[in-house]
Amino acid sequence: MYDIVIIGAGASGLFAASLLQKQTNQKICLIDKNPKIGAKIKVSGGGKCNITNKYLSSSHYLGDQQFISEIFSQFDQNSLLKFLKSNNLHPNFNEKIVKGTYFCNSSDDVNTLFSKLIIQCDLLLNTDVKDVRYENGSFTIVTEKKQFLSKKLLVASGGLSYPSLGASDIGFRIAKKFGHTVITPNPALVGFTVQKEQFWFKELSGLSMNVKVKVEDKTLDGSLLFTHKGCSGPVILSSSLYWKKGLISIDFAPTKESYLPKRFKQAIKDLDIDIHNYQFAPAGNFGYTKAEVTKGGVSTDELNLNLESKIQKDLYFIGEVVDVTGELGGYNFQWAFSSAYCATQSIISNNLTKK
Ligand SMILES: Cc1cc2nc3c(=O)[nH]c(=O)nc-3n(C[C@H](O)[C@H](O)[C@H](O)COP(=O)(O)OP(=O)(O)OC[C@H]3O[C@@H](n4cnc5c(N)ncnc54)[C@H](O)[C@@H]3O)c2cc1C
Repeated sequence: MYDIVIIGAGASGLFAASLLQKQTNQKICLIDKNPKIGAKIKVSGGGKCNITNKYLSSSHYLGDQQFISEIFSQFDQNSLLKFLKSNNLHPNFNEKIVKGTYFCNSSDDVNTLFSKLIIQCDLLLNTDVKDVRYENGSFTIVTEKKQFLSKKLLVASGGLSYPSLGASDIGFRIAKKFGHTVITPNPALVGFTVQKEQFWFKELSGLSMNVKVKVEDKTLDGSLLFTHKGCSGPVILSSSLYWKKGLISIDFAPTKESYLPKRFKQAIKDLDIDIHNYQFAPAGNFGYTKAEVTKGGVSTDELNLNLESKIQKDLYFIGEVVDVTGELGGYNFQWAFSSAYCATQSIISNNLTKK
């Protein structure tokens, strides 16, 4: 019987395991279907892991603003940077692509750090969790190989994006099984495909421009990249977080200094378009194989501020599986770490009170 089982050795699961191992002498097990820990950390930020953002606030997230702020009031970007520095990891401030971002020298440094910090946990890799049951006051975690019993369960299994890196719907299935509402998941931080009226985008494939995008009630600045399928680039990825089904508007020349590239002028010369308010409805998006994250997930209405289920005692949901999703720029790792922190602190303090 384990005291705590964590499903998912990604950002939130690894951080939770590190904190728990350091401050409790509990028997902890970390399970992942991948052959190595931190598969998404490894590929993140072009191999340099954009780990957090100076301008952290709930306004950069889709989800319950009050809930998100409460979580960050316990562990924010400065707490994360402090934790990393105390472990000799010094992310660099780099605003080249997105405002406020911190990047590591290499994503491998983050995974190396976590592999040292979880040394006392049982790490079960290549282990696919198939189901979870609650019987006689403990959880039974069913994997394809065998079953494990645990007093507490932390679901840190992420969303549906990038199935090639281990993503599965297990977190959503567990949530539903215990009676939780799962807000419909959808790909986010992903490029848009376009309708035939925007096929001229394809002619500009490879061109990027600084633009302003209005989507729902948000206005976002940044670089747009035309692609052979539609459009992408940082500002479009963040727009996809807020886009529902309607029109988005692009200002291709948002500042007085804006200059329109020759290729762009050429492509629009016979089109009657307003370059300051070009409105179009995307056909869709590039899907889960390309989406950096999944929006939607376990409803925060049914979670306490320590990320414990209000329905099932000792069951926690942390990271991307929860209905909180950030813009591009390190916001999603910060959420993964902050939510993991809140869950573990509550477990640690309960444990201390019991002793
Ligand atoms: C290409 C790419 C680049 C990104 N770059 C950045 C970036 O630079 N900055 C940023 O903030 N965010 C970035 N993100 C998003 C970020 O990686 C995620 O938001 C974050 O990893 C979520 O952490 P998590 O712990 O919730 O889930 P994950 O890190 O996805 O971890 C979940 C783990 O659960 C495991 N798992 C799933 N199902 C099962 C199962 N049935 N049995 C066992 N194990 C299972 C998976 O294998 C996985 O290892 C990027 C994402 C992608 C895809």
